Amino acid sequence: MREYDIVIGLEVHVQLKSVTKMFCTNSASYFGTSPNSHTCPVCLGLPGALPVPNKKALESALKIGLALNCSINARSRFDRKNYFYPDLPKGFQISQYDLPIAQNGWIFVGNKKIRINRAHLEEDTGKLIHAALNKQKVSLIDFNRSGVPLMEVVSEPDIESPAEAKAYAKKLHQIMRYLDVSDADMEKAGMRFDANISVKPKGQKNYGVKVEVKNINSFRFLEKALVYEAARQIRILEAGGKLMQETRGWVETKGETVSQRTKETSPDYRYFPEPDLPPLVFSKETMAKLKLEIPELPDSRKNRFKEQLSLSDNDAEVLTEDKKTADWFELALKDYLEISKNQTKEIATEKAKTIANWVIGELRRLLNEQLKSIDEINLQPASLAELLTLIDKGEVSNQTAKEVFAEMFSTGNKPTKIISEKNLGKIIDRETINNLVVSILKENQEAVDDYKKGKQASLSYLIGQVMRRTAGKADPFLVRQSLEKNLK
Ligand SMILES: [Zn+2]
Repeated sequence: MREYDIVIGLEVHVQLKSVTKMFCTNSASYFGTSPNSHTCPVCLGLPGALPVPNKKALESALKIGLALNCSINARSRFDRKNYFYPDLPKGFQISQYDLPIAQNGWIFVGNKKIRINRAHLEEDTGKLIHAALNKQKVSLIDFNRSGVPLMEVVSEPDIESPAEAKAYAKKLHQIMRYLDVSDADMEKAGMRFDANISVKPKGQKNYGVKVEVKNINSFRFLEKALVYEAARQIRILEAGGKLMQETRGWVETKGETVSQRTKETSPDYRYFPEPDLPPLVFSKETMAKLKLEIPELPDSRKNRFKEQLSLSDNDAEVLTEDKKTADWFELALKDYLEISKNQTKEIATEKAKTIANWVIGELRRLLNEQLKSIDEINLQPASLAELLTLIDKGEVSNQTAKEVFAEMFSTGNKPTKIISEKNLGKIIDRETINNLVVSILKENQEAVDDYKKGKQASLSYLIGQVMRRTAGKADPFLVRQSLEKNLK
């Protein structure tokens, strides 16, 4: 068998976070509401209804363009994409054709630069629901999703494997979440993928015949569909067959792609400028304002964590996976550093590593265990800083601290409160320890005699007895000191 190159380009649709729809004042929060309860003449495409662009969605689209390193078209425009489908009552979709909001960008996926061809704004369509009604198969239409703002990000065919396609899609998802322009919630179809894929014998210059796999709604299905499709294409070519330019759909239940339409039957959209909407003009002031609103993005934040805080690549990667975790980590670190006056670079690095260990270890473990996200908990970053300071002062042991942290996690209470209420503090009072030691010695005359005869192991035994009596809370160093003094 010959070796093949795989060539993939992705079109990613992202629903934008918005109170209202793209061109009308209907609520865009339609998920879970009763069918057709979020509609009006504009999004139903009734004659005479006029669209008005949603300013917030336009700003989100511009931010996306900037974050994807695109050049922004200072003059942009909406166009009509004409086609008929039952979920599109107007008979056209308002989209963008030759003047998209953003063009010619790129993002890094690992160390590889993947170019973005364009990012444009459009409106979502309604949704067909295929069901059975009175034992008859019916198709129902829900127009609640009609007109919800949608950003389409189109990559260049720079992606070379299904795994890379998945990583690219995840990176886009991460950026959207950092920008806070979309929930990109996969379960609610807030992010959907169309993939163009072709194969060619390794090293061949010309592209192979391109197949489009449409409407994939999870990262896992995206990878699976592309693995299947690449193998299918290679199998046909190896058998001496010819590929057809076509659109296919991923059928998860079968684990395969199936043909939906060929090039001959694909529609000509006859794009033309939307006559009901004026051109989009973005001033320098608007662009400057939006640039300021873009937060530090995952790549640069990760690099900063590595360079400034000397965190490992893996720690920095995990901490910056989502913005809220990274924010939480930085707040905890800031508090931890503020408490201690001594602030050399070494100490800062050491403290960053300690906080990173707690966030990646205990905090993530508890979040996973309780299926919670970091913004759903009452535990404050400052409380972790406080707890770590108590460990540093020797007021609580490392082991007990984990117990305290779990309690902080579930109640949101401060560590000092938990430690005093549950009596978890370390016993460091010399007199208390001395009294304990004296009574333990009285009860263990045999061990005392053995020790005096030279049996060193008896000392460990006696330390163990004191620790047991205090449920491990006595400071072992002070216990040993006191025992040695009393045994003289
Ligand atoms: Zn509407």
